[in-house]
Amino acid sequence: MERLDPHPVTGTPLPSPAPPGAGWPGDPADDTTPVATTAAQVRRLASTASSVDELQARISVCRACARLVRWREDVARSGRRASFADQPYWGRPGPSFGDPDAPALLVGLAPAANGTNRTGRMFTGDSSGDFLWAALHRTGFAAQPTSVAAGDGQALTGLRIVAAVRCAPPENKPTPTERATCSAWLQRDLELAAPRLRSILCLGAIGWDATLAAARALGWDVPRPKPRFGHGVEVALGRPDGRTVRLVGCYHVSPHNTFTGRLTPAMLDEVLLGLRA
Ligand code: SF4
Repeated sequence: MERLDPHPVTGTPLPSPAPPGAGWPGDPADDTTPVATTAAQVRRLASTASSVDELQARISVCRACARLVRWREDVARSGRRASFADQPYWGRPGPSFGDPDAPALLVGLAPAANGTNRTGRMFTGDSSGDFLWAALHRTGFAAQPTSVAAGDGQALTGLRIVAAVRCAPPENKPTPTERATCSAWLQRDLELAAPRLRSILCLGAIGWDATLAAARALGWDVPRPKPRFGHGVEVALGRPDGRTVRLVGCYHVSPHNTFTGRLTPAMLDEVLLGLRA
């Protein structure tokens, strides 16, 4: 018999991974949401998604990368961290989180196996997320200083979080093919955000490169040679309608950077506040 565990906020008994529409708080999909199983289907379902909500639903059930599907579901079923062993794991791609009409996007790398892959929300449930959410709250984007689980009341205003890759990869390293396959989702996220979009904050070089590639694929004017990632680096991306979008680099909020002081709370606050400029 399938094992069920109570969701930490609602108490609803849920299997791991959580089937679409099973009752996970904030699940954007249901059992009618179309599922991509190939790169071509990702491109087709991304390009035909008519809204941010529809796009996130389709992302959240994607099965196009066999290695990542296997990994995320293995972790959810039998590879849970001991401290979370009695919780259900989302075990699906991380949909974007935040304000669908935001003028700013934050682009991360990929979900963590016991973070987003457990909670179903970007940057939620690990130390990277703790560092980020505290800053998002200090700078007025987040309703609460912590984000611990879907359904906890957290909300973003003026910002939406997306990622270069939506499934947790082994050792946090997606392959070039997986990054290329997932890029269609990011491209459509940028396209749907474009009418209101003024700035994009990229956490780390992979998010930076993925965003530049997506912008170029959309026909935006990206400087050549490709601008190099760096903390605080800013680039203006020209859109076909003549408007520009500011691309801003920021060191990733990984423990490797935050525990060593390479990225401090003040540095992160500064780039976040700059998104409103
Ligand atoms: S990494 Fe992206 S394209 Fe690959 S299965 Fe996950 S959501 Fe789909």
